[in-house]
Amino acid sequence: KRKRNAEEFQLLETRVREFDGKGITCFSELPLTKQTAAGLHKAHFKTLTDIQRKAIPLALKGRDVLGAAKTGSGKTLAFLVPVLEVLYRKKWTTMDGLGALIISPTRELAAQIFDVLRKIGREHAFSAGLVTGGKKLKDEQEALHRMNIVVCTPGRMLQHMDQTVGLMLDNVQLLVLDEADRILDMGFGKTLDAIIENLPRERQTLLFSATQTKCVTDLARLGLKDAEYVAVHEAA
Ligand code: ADP
Ligand code: MG
Repeated sequence: KRKRNAEEFQLLETRVREFDGKGITCFSELPLTKQTAAGLHKAHFKTLTDIQRKAIPLALKGRDVLGAAKTGSGKTLAFLVPVLEVLYRKKWTTMDGLGALIISPTRELAAQIFDVLRKIGREHAFSAGLVTGGKKLKDEQEALHRMNIVVCTPGRMLQHMDQTVGLMLDNVQLLVLDEADRILDMGFGKTLDAIIENLPRERQTLLFSATQTKCVTDLARLGLKDAEYVAVHEAA
């Protein structure tokens, strides 16, 4: 069993390395784990949207991505699929702690992301949780220690960084900022800076927004490294 797993990991690594992402239309053409493929299939996702077609291949290869596409274009899967895949390929287990932090401007949007994560991640063994202040701080604090993937709002996450004893952020591999433009518009810039200050520099960052904000100073603060800018140009 272990040997077969090792072979499967190797095969997947090779498929990702050799994948160029050109001309694909379906999720089934991506080099994905069978777990994610099954999750997508059960949720009836087959064809990639434009932003998914552009962003997922880059993110699967570990690149930082700056994605812009209007509301309703499918940005959620554009980052959730890479989050699951990258952690899996890093052989992430419950023991490894927090591996991915997904920041959303509001509780409602965070809850929507979490629902999609639960659907497409159902075949994976990762533990995931919502950290948006919907529960008592103490309950969230206890749950946080067991989470591999956290979907959070900026204020509540920073509160945990300040108050949750033993919160381990040194292992975070991926940072996702969804609706980054809105996070900044809502005045969370300073909060975001403080969160990012607590994260390791060696990580992958995926940033999505509905508008084409390419403001260099804003991006610098987010610590994107040689990010690929992908935008879907449609009348928004
Ligand atoms: P955005 O974040 O860009 O506003 P969402 O990720 O919320 O968009 O997706 C908008 C809608 O499109 C959702 O109902 C979602 O289920 C659906 N959707 C996303 N990707 C696909 C896809 N590849 N195929 C079919 N429907 C999709
Ligand atoms: Mg969205």
